[in-house]
Amino acid sequence: MGTIFSKIIAREAPAIIVYQDEMVTAFKDIHPKAPVHILIVPNKEIATVNDVTPEDEAMLGHMFTVAKQVAKEQGIAERGYRLIVNCLDEGGQEVYHLHMHLVGGRRLGPMLARWG
Ligand code: AMP
Repeated sequence: MGTIFSKIIAREAPAIIVYQDEMVTAFKDIHPKAPVHILIVPNKEIATVNDVTPEDEAMLGHMFTVAKQVAKEQGIAERGYRLIVNCLDEGGQEVYHLHMHLVGGRRLGPMLARWG
């Protein structure tokens, strides 16, 4: 098991890591959709949002405080930004290791493409 993200967390694969502690790792997305595009990833391998458990709640909350801190360090806290978590195929998830996208540095527009 394991995805490329586990290798990045273990520093066995290259990435620009901007933050790491015992619970989470944050690194630059390899295909950025905006001037700031950082992934905040639990060090623990959790495939999708469907796989989180109550024991993960402290770590999941921590992802938000890290997102806030990284947004400030990246200089976008005051302008605003978006946090995104995709789940499974229809949610647009490509890497099956839970992650939060921190995206900003430009006006992002509507949250979703038009439907119908
Ligand atoms: P998602 O579609 O929510 O699963 O997002 C996966 C994200 O991971 C995409 O934005 C990819 O560009 C990004 N990604 C995939 N491989 C790497 C990598 N080796 N280093 C950094 N970001 C990656």
